Amino acid sequence: MNKELFYSELSKDLKKKFGTSVEKALPWQLHESLSATVMELIDSDWENSKKAHLDSRRACYLSMEFLMGRAVYNNLLCLGITDEVDELLKAHGRSLNDLEEIEDAALGNGGLGRLAACFLDSAAAHDLPLDGYGIRYKYGLFKQKIVDGFQKEEADNWTKYGDPWSKRCENDKVVVKYGDQTVYAVPYDMPVIGFGTKNVGTLRLWQAESVEDFDFAQFDCGNYDGAVKAKNDAENISKVLYPNDNCEEGKILRLKQEYFFSSASVTDILKKHLAKFGTLDNLGDYITIQLNDTHPVIAVPELIRQLCAEHSYDFDKAFEIAHKVFNYTNHTIMAEALEKWDCRLVEKVVPEVYTYILMINERFIKDMYALKKDREYISKLSPVGDGMVKMAFMAIYVSSYINGVAAIHTEILKKDALKDWYELYPERFQNKTNGITQRRWLALCNPELSALITKLLGNADWVKDLDELKKLEKYADDEAVLNEFMAVKEAQKNRLAAFVKEHDGVDIDPNTIFDIQIKRLHEYKRQFLNALSILYIYYGIKDGSIKDFTPTTFIFGAKSAPGYRRAKAIIKLIGEISKLVNADPDTKDLIKVVFVQNYNVSYAEKLVTAADVSEQISTAGTEASGTGNMKLMLNGAVTLGTYDGANVEIVQEAGEENNYIFGARVEELAEIMPKYDPREILFSNDKIKRMLDKLIDGSLSDGGVPSNEEGSFKELYKALTDGASWHVPDHYYVLGDLESYVQAKLKVNADYKDKLAFAKKCWLNIANAGKFSSDRTIKDYAENIWKIEPVKL
Ligand SMILES: *Cc1c(COP(=O)(O)O)cnc(C)c1O
Repeated sequence: MNKELFYSELSKDLKKKFGTSVEKALPWQLHESLSATVMELIDSDWENSKKAHLDSRRACYLSMEFLMGRAVYNNLLCLGITDEVDELLKAHGRSLNDLEEIEDAALGNGGLGRLAACFLDSAAAHDLPLDGYGIRYKYGLFKQKIVDGFQKEEADNWTKYGDPWSKRCENDKVVVKYGDQTVYAVPYDMPVIGFGTKNVGTLRLWQAESVEDFDFAQFDCGNYDGAVKAKNDAENISKVLYPNDNCEEGKILRLKQEYFFSSASVTDILKKHLAKFGTLDNLGDYITIQLNDTHPVIAVPELIRQLCAEHSYDFDKAFEIAHKVFNYTNHTIMAEALEKWDCRLVEKVVPEVYTYILMINERFIKDMYALKKDREYISKLSPVGDGMVKMAFMAIYVSSYINGVAAIHTEILKKDALKDWYELYPERFQNKTNGITQRRWLALCNPELSALITKLLGNADWVKDLDELKKLEKYADDEAVLNEFMAVKEAQKNRLAAFVKEHDGVDIDPNTIFDIQIKRLHEYKRQFLNALSILYIYYGIKDGSIKDFTPTTFIFGAKSAPGYRRAKAIIKLIGEISKLVNADPDTKDLIKVVFVQNYNVSYAEKLVTAADVSEQISTAGTEASGTGNMKLMLNGAVTLGTYDGANVEIVQEAGEENNYIFGARVEELAEIMPKYDPREILFSNDKIKRMLDKLIDGSLSDGGVPSNEEGSFKELYKALTDGASWHVPDHYYVLGDLESYVQAKLKVNADYKDKLAFAKKCWLNIANAGKFSSDRTIKDYAENIWKIEPVKL
């Protein structure tokens, strides 16, 4: 990089856009101009890469969510110019730290959206022609404040100060038609800069706009309201991200969003292909589309519709092309997340597409007749049935490949959740254990640990080949190295403590164990179990049954869907427990509980580096994979977790003896749950009874939520003991796993006393984290599903 030139371009941009200078610019102005300067720097590489991708067989990743986080630091890292730019800024009294206040691009809820972001990064770094397609929400995931223990949501107007990492591509705008509405989809492209290569991938996010700025015909008639409404109705489609993680809502606007980006992406892909080849006959040879969960599955009938209605293919030929093109990733087996749409609603919103959905369904029935399947079987598996369109079934029927996201998850799909489908099409099922990019989740967020690793290995090859970390195993008994590691961990804990103080106004002591649970707030993730275990330990310390407890700071970070009352009650409960234990003179030096506000990618970058203990405690069989578990492992935390999702593979890699596994396993739960009665635990275990009584006897106050209403502590209690109309008592086996969880927690706590032995466990986790790079995942997709090759640039 030419520093002088960079500086002069940056200065010029600041002067032109804001009439200011590097010295005087506000942080957001500096961000705007710095980003614009980098965009200029990569422009020709990006153009070349776009062309190279279009010239190759390429993969298109369709996802409703991309949780990108902050772009600026990552982009500088990938270009290898972080230090130079920082020095340059420092020469003018500024620094890259000034950009800490820049907001995340939070166009996703949690793991699913972050996975999409990690995949783009990995593909770009390894020259794979993969491009993302999604929605440019005006408002991303809400910002969270905790006020008096309650979650408060605020709108996330993330482009308020501009969006310097996007390029509006007016020429590529397309039309999207609904039964009652026609809108433009305008693409905004974001570069995905490959680390240490000229390859730059593209994330194409569609924005909904009115086909005419205002309907002037209506103006002429004096119908101003009508004209404005049409514009707003169009823009509303991409206005806001639905804040539900792992839970479907079934709303018209949601279906419109799904169709919006699916249709626009298909149109775009066909247009580009036609322009190049003059035919769509060979589409399947050049294009493969990955459907990230069921949200983009409407792209399947949409592709068939476009081929038939706009390119005069017959249905069977169109179906054959779609079969070659599509693949589907399943992310969950939980019933509430399996998307089904009311047929009447689909017919109303996208009538033409609905016709093709029915034709797909007819074709399925015909196939099944040919296989001599009976009526019962057919109606069980039909993509359309019971008045609903079953998105997962449609995806599986049409796709070439279907994958789960961790070994155990894929096994559950094959043996249980999708057993019939697996038996029908065994060759279609694959596993692709999720991963995370070590660029963001180690090199960027933990420069101190990165430096230590690079020093020991003698090079930084691990940044593009995480299996290199295995060579660190030989230092597992090297006291000097472990001491260096402990010094890094301490520095990270100090840094986090300072940030929590500044951001959340809470003092935490870096000399305590940092026990961290960060992920969306959901019953299946069992933050409730964690909270109850803390209460259990609190009373144990008070009555003397728990002795020699190593001081521990329990940190939670999580957003709840705004309408998820029980999850919100759990946030409030954690707040009340925090007040109780932090104030009690018997415990305040031993236990501290903190719920940090607005957990997002940037906060995650700080939290994962400072953890000693990684809480991964979902009920076995509910967390498809998890990726938070991998981030914490990579940064040297031990996992305290259940045999669920990728935890299984984490302990396989790093050793059960270096982690803390507890609780009932999937096979055990299958036996237990049908006859499980949590009240038996309550009546036979005084400690659990004593603790749970605090939820209903007024010791812990839920802040006046009416007692019989969902969202109160009494309701949390009742969910454990009596269940509700929609679930059995203690559906997630919180009380069943509580004792073994507390025992495992106390074991970690005791083991930590031998700091060197504990550091060794952490170290072995780092050394064995290679498998969890999204580079490994993406290469597996490339080879075994997409059949794509690296581009030459
Ligand atoms: C990684 C990540 C997640 C996923 O965490 P899990 O523990 O796998 O659920 C969610 N949100 C953010 C901000 C993340 O960075």
